[in-house]
Order: sequence, then structure tokens, then C-alpha cells
Amino acid sequence: MTNLMTDTTKNQSIDISSFGPISLVVIQPTSFCNLDCDYCYLPDRHLKNRLSIDLIEPIFKAILTSPFLGNYVDICWHAGEPLAVPVSFYQEVFKQIEIASQKYNTQQIPICHSIQTNGTLINQAWCDLFKEHNICVGISIDGPDFLHDIHRKTRTGLGSHASVMRGINYLQKNDLYFNIIAVINQDSLDYPDEIFQFFWDNGILDVAFNMEETEGINQTSSLDKAGTEQRYQAFMRRFWDLTVQTNDQLKVREFESICGLICDDRRLKKTDMNHPFMIVNIDHKGNFSTFDPELLSIKTEPYGDFILGNVLTDTFESVCHSEKFLNIYRDMAAGVNLCRENCQYFGVCGGGAGSNKYWENGSFNSAQTNACRYRIQIVTDIVLNALEQSFNLSNS
Ligand code: SF4
Repeated sequence: MTNLMTDTTKNQSIDISSFGPISLVVIQPTSFCNLDCDYCYLPDRHLKNRLSIDLIEPIFKAILTSPFLGNYVDICWHAGEPLAVPVSFYQEVFKQIEIASQKYNTQQIPICHSIQTNGTLINQAWCDLFKEHNICVGISIDGPDFLHDIHRKTRTGLGSHASVMRGINYLQKNDLYFNIIAVINQDSLDYPDEIFQFFWDNGILDVAFNMEETEGINQTSSLDKAGTEQRYQAFMRRFWDLTVQTNDQLKVREFESICGLICDDRRLKKTDMNHPFMIVNIDHKGNFSTFDPELLSIKTEPYGDFILGNVLTDTFESVCHSEKFLNIYRDMAAGVNLCRENCQYFGVCGGGAGSNKYWENGSFNSAQTNACRYRIQIVTDIVLNALEQSFNLSNS
């Protein structure tokens, strides 16, 4: 049991003025998802909970009056499936946000909106809403149908690829920009050419890869299997070569972010995943957390749940002195220190994501994970190698 006196003493040295700035607020309009992907980490995706419209004002009051607020805020509607609630829900939400903004957005900071969706429910009415409110759309699709449909299935076990492509066609017909997230798992690794060709042929030019992670109720990742690292390296190396051939037309987030840091000679000291209140996550009941959005719906042995407060009763800054926050924060900060002291990739990583550290190592106070090997270390080696070769710096 943690000693409260010790907490209080340590608490005095915590400078919350360094927390934030809030750059991303992830709001859960519903916990329900119409799909049942087998690698999903969310435990409550079968429950049809819905965010009450009455919570919009307190949510935006909490955001817009917070001392952690920065110069802008991105609101991402996500997790379960944000289009599982009707268009009319968002029409009412946007009216209420406008009312709350008039009251609380005294500095008139820009508020941008995005939706991360499985894409299966997009139709003309959704496209009209996206246009009207300038909503950026992120779609989850794992490449061609023979790969996507292995894991991303409907609740009756059917593949969802055709429905996602119907949604993408709506976006394209409406000239709406979108990016995609593709989950890389064991089944993807032999098919870099097919995945690339699928994106290219369908005019999908803004791609992010998420590695299948050990997380939440997905208790093992297929990428943990022995021998996977070499296959993953070969996959990413081939994808880099294919991407380079497009003369920068097709962009992959993982390459772009590391290239950007290296070429601009910038280095990270932290990330929004491990620094308090750069990300705020709010569930359908108005409960909130910070750090990785994946933590909001999860309970763990050492930390309990990650709900720090509720917008009806707490402010973001008021929870920073709670024992629960301090337990999480101390371990998160210690884990980042371990990374800083021991990892040569720290400058392009910033110390990683606590959720990966917890799920793989059992504590935020830890460093390397398979997730960071794949997402940061291997990709950095590929990018550095390619850049050195392009400048004739490599001995190979
Ligand atoms: S790559 Fe892994 S070990 Fe290195 S800083 Fe990032 S999270 Fe830490």
C-alpha cells in the first residue's frame, strides 16, 4: 500500500505548470462497435452506451477553462465506432459545442474535429456532416480484402472490407480528404507489395501503420511470435523502397515522423502519451483520463482503472494531486527516465507509450517493449540506413 505521507511530500515537488498543453481530446460518443475485430483491445465494445448531449457543455467547459489549454485543440471522436450513433447526434453535439464555445472559449482558440472510424457506415449524410463541420476522417483498413477480412469482421463473422471500400468511395466522390490506419499483424508481413499496390490503386496516399499490440483484452500479439522481427524488418524495408518510388506522393506516418526528426535535427524529450494532459480522454459518462487513450476503458492490477475524475465534479488540474494520478505519473516519469538513460533511440521516440510498457513489462516504470522495437527502433534503422545510402555515407 502506498504511503500517503510520502505521496504528499512528493506531491509538493510536482510542478503542474509544466503539464499540457492539451493538444488532443479523445471523446467516446459510444462504447459500441458494429465490428468485432479479433485484435481489438476494448472490453466494452458490445455495450450500446451513448454520450449524453447534456455532457457536452461540461466537457467543453473543462477543456476551455483548463490551465493546460494550449493554442489549439483537436477533438477526436473515437472508440468504439463513432458512426454507430446517428448523424443527428453530432448535429446536436455541434450546436452545444457552439454554445459552450461562446461562453468559455474566451481566447477563441481554434477547435478542430476528427473522427477515427472503421468506415463501414459512411454514406452521403455522413459526408455532408464531415463537410459542414470540416471534420478530418481517419479510416481503419488493413490493406486488400484477403488480409483485412481475416481479422476485421462483422458481429456475424463476415468480412468488412467491401463495406469499408463503399465508405471510402463516398469520401472520394465528395472530395473529402482522409487518412488510413492499417494494423500490421503476422498475416501482413509477407505482402508489402500487395498492401502497397492496394493503397496506390485506390488513391490512398496518407497511411499510418499500427502494429498489432498486446493490449487490453488482446492479451497476445501475433507479432510476438519467434522469428517475426526479421520478417517485419523485410516488410518495412520493402515498403520504404516502394514509398520512395512514388516521389513522396504516398506517405507513411512511421517513415515521415522519423525522417522529419532526423532531417530537421530535432529530438524528442517526451511524447503526448507519457506527458500529463497533452492528451485528455473522455468516456461516454464524462469520466476522464490522460496519457494513452487506450488506458481509459481498462483496469490493471497495479494501477486499478485510469479514470482520474469526471467533468461534472472535477477539473483536469484538481485531479493532479490525487493518489491515483501520482501513482501513475511517478511510474510513467520513471519509465521515461529509464528510456532516456538507456536507449539510443530516445531522441526519436521520447520514451514511448505507458500502455505498451504496462502490457508487455507489467509496469509503466520500464523501458523497451516489442511495440517500440517495431514502431521506433527498427523503422529508425531502416530510415537511417536509407538516408546514409542516399548520401553515399554507408560502408555497405
Ligand atoms: S524506443 Fe523503446 S526503449 Fe527506446 S526510448 Fe522509446 S520506448 Fe524507450
